[in-house]
Amino acid sequence: MIPRWSMVLAILLFAGMQYIFHGVMPHHKHELLPMRLMAGYWWGAFFASYALLLGYVSRDVKRRGMSAGLWMLVCVVLPGGIGSVVYFMLRQPILSRCPNCSTTMESGYHFCPQCQFQMAPVCGICHRGTKITDVYCTQCGHDLAEDYAPARLRAYSDTE
Ligand SMILES: [Zn+2]
Ligand SMILES: [Zn+2]
Repeated sequence: MIPRWSMVLAILLFAGMQYIFHGVMPHHKHELLPMRLMAGYWWGAFFASYALLLGYVSRDVKRRGMSAGLWMLVCVVLPGGIGSVVYFMLRQPILSRCPNCSTTMESGYHFCPQCQFQMAPVCGICHRGTKITDVYCTQCGHDLAEDYAPARLRAYSDTE
């Protein structure tokens, strides 16, 4: 789920912060070593998680058919992770692909909008979603066993 480049970037940023705190910054005699270790660790962890978040967003954006460039920019430009908060509030639902005609659609659809392929088990009368363990429809009381090749049973036979 998190691409390799962002993991590498996270490690580099973390190591870079350790270098800045312990190698570049001037050391004072009265300074406490544990304090400096803590500061280096926290800043390193902060930038590393930023890189991982960016990596996650770059992958997640594609699953939802949103503009990758725009959202990466938003996450980088808005400070302190605000961009990613905005992203998680505004992101579109995950897209799934019809196995029959490979149309992309929002996951959670019961039928493919282009070829009527059944994506989820539904009641044969009211077409609301059912669980494959249901015997009667929870919405209209229809006996699901009466449906021709009931979707809930088809889900079993597909796996065999
Ligand atoms: Zn389809
Ligand atoms: Zn029903």
